[in-house]
Amino acid sequence: MHVLVTGANSGIGKEITRQLVTAGHTVWAAARDPERGRAAAAETGARPLVLDVTDERSIAAAVERVAELDVLVNNAGIGDRGEQPADLDTDTLRRVYETNVFGVVAVTNAFLPTLRRSARPRIVNISSGTGSLGWSTGPNPQFDHRTGGAAAAYRSSKTALNALTVHYGQMLAAEGFKVNALAPGLRATNLNARAAELGGVPGEAAAAAVRLAQLAPDGPTAGFFSWDGTVAPW
Ligand code: NDP
Repeated sequence: MHVLVTGANSGIGKEITRQLVTAGHTVWAAARDPERGRAAAAETGARPLVLDVTDERSIAAAVERVAELDVLVNNAGIGDRGEQPADLDTDTLRRVYETNVFGVVAVTNAFLPTLRRSARPRIVNISSGTGSLGWSTGPNPQFDHRTGGAAAAYRSSKTALNALTVHYGQMLAAEGFKVNALAPGLRATNLNARAAELGGVPGEAAAAAVRLAQLAPDGPTAGFFSWDGTVAPW
C-alpha cells in the first residue's frame, strides 16, 4: 500500500509513519520543514516529502511527486492558546482553521484523483475527542469547557473536521472509499503543554490510525472512532 501522512515529522504522525513502514507499506512522510521531514523519514524508513498543508503550491508540488496513493492520513494540526470563545479573535480562529480544516480540504481534494485510481482508497482524519459535541454536552461531559479546557478555536476546528469526514465519507462511499476520523486521546507531543505533561504514548494512538488505514472493504466509513476502537459520539 502507498500511504501519505501529513505532519509526519513529529508526535503521532511520526509514529503512524513508523508503524506503517513496519507493516510493509510505502510511506511518504510529509512535513512542511524539509530538514525535519528528512530526519523523520530517515528515522522511520519512509520517503521524505515537503508538504505545507496551508500552501497551495506546496500541495501541488507534492501531488506531482506522488504517482500512487491508497491512503491519505490527514494528521497535521495545530493548537490554540486555550482561549474561551469570548477571548477569541478572528485571526486566531482563521490561523487554526487554516491548518486543521482548510488544509485538510485542500490536501484531500488535491490527492483525490490519485486516490481514485486505488483499488482500496482510505482517508484517515486525525481529529480530537475535544471536538466531539456528544462528549462536550452528554450526561458526563468529559469535555465540558469548564472542566475539559476551552480551546474554542482548536476544538471547533476538530468539530468541523468531523463534519467534513461525514460529508467526504458519504460522497465517496459508492466509490469504495473508507473515510473516518480518529480521536487519538491525550498524547505527549509538541501540540500543547497539557498533552506533553499528561499525555500517553503517541504510538498507542498511531496504532488506531493504522487500523483505519488498513480497513477491509466491509469496514466502516463516515465514522468517528476513539483510539481504543470504540465508536466516538459526534
Ligand atoms: P505535533 O505538534 O507533534 O504534530 C503536529 C504535526 O503537524 C507536526 O509535524 C507539525 O509540523 C505539523 N504541521 C503543523 N502545521 C502544518 C502545516 N501547515 N503543514 C504541514 N504540517 C504541519 O502534535 P501531535 O502529534 O499531537 O498532533 C497530531 C494530530 O493529532 C493533530 O491533528 C492534533 O490536533 C491531533 N491530536 C493530538 C492530541 C494530543 O494529545 N497530542 C489529542 C487530540 C488530537 P511542525 O513540526 O513543522 O510544526
